[in-house]
Amino acid sequence: MKSVTRQKNLEEIIRMLGKARKVSLVGCGTCPTMAETGGLREVEEMARALEEREVTVASTTVLPVACEPLPDEARNGFRSLLGEAQAVLVLSCSLGVRMVSDYTDLAVLPALDTLFIGREAEPGFFVEECAQCGDCLLGDYAGICPIVHCAKSLFNGPCGGSVDGKCEVDPGLPCGWQLIYDRMKALGRLEELSVIRPYKDWSKSLSGGARRMRIPVPPPEKKSEEG
Ligand code: SF4
Ligand code: SF4
Repeated sequence: MKSVTRQKNLEEIIRMLGKARKVSLVGCGTCPTMAETGGLREVEEMARALEEREVTVASTTVLPVACEPLPDEARNGFRSLLGEAQAVLVLSCSLGVRMVSDYTDLAVLPALDTLFIGREAEPGFFVEECAQCGDCLLGDYAGICPIVHCAKSLFNGPCGGSVDGKCEVDPGLPCGWQLIYDRMKALGRLEELSVIRPYKDWSKSLSGGARRMRIPVPPPEKKSEEG
């Protein structure tokens, strides 16, 4: 999974910092490093840009995977790294920002916007593949998401505006329904598209508040009383 991010502009970051004149920067060694939005280089560039705006950078660090919780012992080390900082600026996806905010009472601010789950179609070029709707339809559409790849998120066929296989909303994009049609045809499944999908269950999407999922967790192993 790649969480695709984009850096906020510096003016917005300065606004968020408010009166904080001393900050710590935290990057992420995984998705933002790949997207070149929050790896070591971008953290160093951000530090230079902030110093030019008379914001002192107390420390910089790049967590290996910012969205993974740090073990308790590592949290203490992380907190001491923040030193005299008045705020923490996190160059990671929104989940990384949330995780870091659990480690400190300081204001934790996002330096990036989290855009979507995507893939790197070519070096440095990311394409959205999933909008995390909570009710995956890929099985019905030959692995091509109509929510993401159709500009109108149509479930029952194309809008009719496509020209030469391009989307009428953005001719720079392939028509998602052309992709679905071609793939279903190649798989010998075209007749399935004649079945009308009455509705999509959006109750599993963002509309119901923060989504939760619990999986069965095996009980902890009992320690042997011997030895
Ligand atoms: S149907 Fe929903 S879960 Fe499946 S790829 Fe599309 S947005 Fe993601
Ligand atoms: S042209 Fe294709 S991708 Fe664009 S809105 Fe219409 S059906 Fe969807």
